[in-house]
Amino acid sequence: MNTSKEIGGIKTKGEKLIISGPCSAETEEQVHETAAQLKAINKVDLLRAGIWKPRTRPNSFEGVGGQGLVWLKAAGKAMGIPVCTEVANATHVEAALKNDIDVLWLGARTTVNPFSVQEIADALKGVDIPVMVKNPINPDMELWIGAIERIQLAGIQNISAIHRGFSSFDKTIYRNVPMWEIPIQLKLRMPEVPIICDPSHICGRRDLLESVSQKALDMAMDGLMLESHISPDDAWSDAAQQITPTQLEQLLNNLVARHEDAEDNEVLSVLEKFRSEIDQLDEKIIQVFSKRMEVARAIGSFKKENDITILQSNRWKEIYNARKSLAKELGLSESFIETLLTSVHHESIKQQNDVMNIKKP
Ligand code: PEP
Ligand code: MN
Repeated sequence: MNTSKEIGGIKTKGEKLIISGPCSAETEEQVHETAAQLKAINKVDLLRAGIWKPRTRPNSFEGVGGQGLVWLKAAGKAMGIPVCTEVANATHVEAALKNDIDVLWLGARTTVNPFSVQEIADALKGVDIPVMVKNPINPDMELWIGAIERIQLAGIQNISAIHRGFSSFDKTIYRNVPMWEIPIQLKLRMPEVPIICDPSHICGRRDLLESVSQKALDMAMDGLMLESHISPDDAWSDAAQQITPTQLEQLLNNLVARHEDAEDNEVLSVLEKFRSEIDQLDEKIIQVFSKRMEVARAIGSFKKENDITILQSNRWKEIYNARKSLAKELGLSESFIETLLTSVHHESIKQQNDVMNIKKP
């Protein structure tokens, strides 16, 4: 069965867009050999390599510059794979276009800056090239959407988003925490924009790549960008997260493809039953919340008549702990119940405050 598709303006071999290649172009041989090994596994739709590398600290390897574009294009051409690279300003865009690079992407450190994004958008006016926009480093949905809109306004037809995780002050197992709810929100707000997951920059380490890639597929994302290198431990940037083309092949083979919509009628009817159960439960939950807020308003008027404050910390602590242990007994996660209770408490206080402090005309 031919499952070939077009995602973000790029023809794919299978159901998902697969992008791979080194974090950075290092030498002509490394770029060429990586491309040859990726060609051999026959699963990659787009070859990547960073030419200008935005590094956190000075005196790190900052990319090979313009000559890398020539190596990248030549390697892609020799292997019959289109190529992509990161651009961070108008000069990069001009150089990439001059060298016939097929697809451009904006990095996470560029998406955060509307001046840079606009400069790139202006340089792209009148050009027909697919563009991918990575999420900004910080979990700011509007900034991500704003960057996509700037590129759209420049007239670019094929735009995809790349989810590469978000930097966090807390130490976690990830280099950049995925915060899946953000790309899910993006999918709801901009359904026409395909989302590619970049597990390499989310994980920062090889051992997590497969489970994050699977999760991305289960979140119905449209593709994966995975960094690969002929000798990952010797890579000049992001060594810990790169894998060989053979490891990439293995990883991709291990992934389970699931479909967003069931095609089999029997499967569909069981799914429908579950969904209708969920719909009924959600309706009940909303009715119960509405009732709870009604009681909160009644308490508000009662407290008002008796001059009692809205907030009684001890009572709240009691409720919070009792509900938490009940939730735990019933198999709910602590973080879920904490978020839920905090939100219910905020709304309850707001309702009581509305009742207690009605302005007299
Ligand atoms: C990269 O893709 O190599 C890169 C620098 O990624 P990000 O912009 O996601 O940090
Ligand atoms: Mn990288």
